[in-house]
Amino acid sequence: MTRRHAPSASAMRCLAGGLLAIMLPSLTAAAPPERTAMDARFQWDLTPMYADADAWGAHYRQLEALVSAWAGRKGSAGQSAASLLETLRLRDQLNIQIEKLSAFAMMRRDEDMRQAAPQALYQRAQTLAVQFEESSAWFQPELLAIPEERIRSWLREPGLEIYSHYFDDLWRTRKHVLTPREEELLAMAGKATEAAPDAFGLLSNTELRWRTVKNPAGEDQLITPPAFLQAMYSPDRRYRRDAFAALHDSYLDARRTLAATLAGAMHRDWFYAKARRYPTSLDRALDAENLPASVYHGLVRTVNEHRHLLHRFVALKQKALRLDDEVHFYDLYVDLVRGPERQYAFEEARQMVIEGIAPFGPEYAGVIRRAFDSQWIDVFENQGKRGGAYNMGTYLSPPYVLLNYKGTFNDVSTLAHELGHAAQSWFARENQPPAYAGYPMFTAEVASTAAEIVFKQSILDRTAAPGARAFLIHQMLEDMRQTVFRQTQFAEFDLAAHTMAERGDPMTADALMKVGREIYARYYGPDFVMDPGLEVECLRVPHYYRSYYVYRYANSYCAAAAIARRILRQEPGARDAWMQFLKTGNSRYAIDMLRDAGADMTTPRPIEEAMGLFKQWLDELDRLLADEALAPANTEGQAAENQR
Ligand SMILES: [Zn+2]
Repeated sequence: MTRRHAPSASAMRCLAGGLLAIMLPSLTAAAPPERTAMDARFQWDLTPMYADADAWGAHYRQLEALVSAWAGRKGSAGQSAASLLETLRLRDQLNIQIEKLSAFAMMRRDEDMRQAAPQALYQRAQTLAVQFEESSAWFQPELLAIPEERIRSWLREPGLEIYSHYFDDLWRTRKHVLTPREEELLAMAGKATEAAPDAFGLLSNTELRWRTVKNPAGEDQLITPPAFLQAMYSPDRRYRRDAFAALHDSYLDARRTLAATLAGAMHRDWFYAKARRYPTSLDRALDAENLPASVYHGLVRTVNEHRHLLHRFVALKQKALRLDDEVHFYDLYVDLVRGPERQYAFEEARQMVIEGIAPFGPEYAGVIRRAFDSQWIDVFENQGKRGGAYNMGTYLSPPYVLLNYKGTFNDVSTLAHELGHAAQSWFARENQPPAYAGYPMFTAEVASTAAEIVFKQSILDRTAAPGARAFLIHQMLEDMRQTVFRQTQFAEFDLAAHTMAERGDPMTADALMKVGREIYARYYGPDFVMDPGLEVECLRVPHYYRSYYVYRYANSYCAAAAIARRILRQEPGARDAWMQFLKTGNSRYAIDMLRDAGADMTTPRPIEEAMGLFKQWLDELDRLLADEALAPANTEGQAAENQR
């Protein structure tokens, strides 16, 4: 689509659908029921969008005609203020209507991915979206060709005034727009420059040879990336160690090819940066959202200044797990608290989330209640349903949430997280015109993470039992280890790899893994054993193919933590500023929105505050785990006692 900012559906790029809600395929559970046999009250109600497939088809045909009309508007935008307004409004309409068409088809498809009919609807919607995009190539160049002064005077007219931020954003990047012939050449290069990411995707999804190990039940288990992640949570250390070696050996087999595809992606980014007259790839990536370089370098610097806290966390894990010898990567994910995890019925989860988000105030809580009462949520797993969790908010529908709820605390947190996205979708669409109904990518995970932090903190405040407190605090520390420390570690590598490409350094597997290894060792400290092969991780992170992506996760968490803290302390104005943030959509720049909400990301303060929170939780966990009764069993090659 031609939108300059991601539509709200971008919320699907959650780190893993909730901070720690890793999709753990249940290896032992019974097969889920067919969708038709389940209670419809726990399924989303999409009828407010389209009554049936016929209604969808009628809308599709209407939009086909509208796309044709759009192509015919070429050359008319600059004729008059009225003509400009008409063109902009038609584009907005096409954006939101095609979004509705696609979103419905996607949600129907995800209900049961085995069904062919919704797949076909989705493909038709995609085709129409591509047609719209292809027939829009003239749009921005035509706007840029209109003298700025003329547009400025037009922007004072009724209806057009709302577009001033849109034009500010467009003009801001004018110097990076090239001549028509150069733009044409860049467009022609597109397919060739995507070959490296495509090759990476094919290799890692289909052609890598995964190895088999014995699971704790003595059965053969193929160690694919999802199975690996599940194994990392097993209390059986032998299994974790074998799964670690199996996965990393599979990647090591292909390390030279992986290094070549990664180098290809880094050279792609450098090519476009140079072509568009940016000094570095990072400058180009940040400029897309008008972000200062300090959001990147400041994050890396401030997190590095607090590495000792991560070292302490690793040492605490070693002590709590009674690992007398040493601590490895495969010891980092295990629960530190003994005992089986309790389960939460969905009705209980609903109550916990509504109480947990109460600090955001009645207006916010009203929308969350509505999500439960109006069937915006597709709760349980069924045969063929898409895994994971996401929010799908569009301008012309309520924000829907897909879950695969199984009743763990993680599942309850994921519900709070996705409802955080849903609330932002809702407030943006209620308060903004179609042009600004999404939100800037840099803020995409802030609303969801703030909801998750406030929820967990509220639960923690009401939890007195030491075991339950230790469990919760360990979860929150893991959120931060994986979201702030780990993603900043990745951000450092991302920058280092881009810099190698910009300098023309050789990007062999050995050279890249050496860099990855140095960063790893620095983050995890002296007590951590760098197992052979661990450094191949730097060659398997798909986000490195997305032109600087990972730093957003770490920044979002810290921004959300800073905002959550103000709200939980009931600082004057904090709640109102937060509601204002949610209602802003993308009508302002991300950095301004966050500053006004209480997180000035141009300074180290939000990162420092998040580190302060980490230390506070670490201190308490240290005290709690000193009690022997809470210590986990460290099984080695024994049957798991709290396998989940
Ligand atoms: Zn998310």
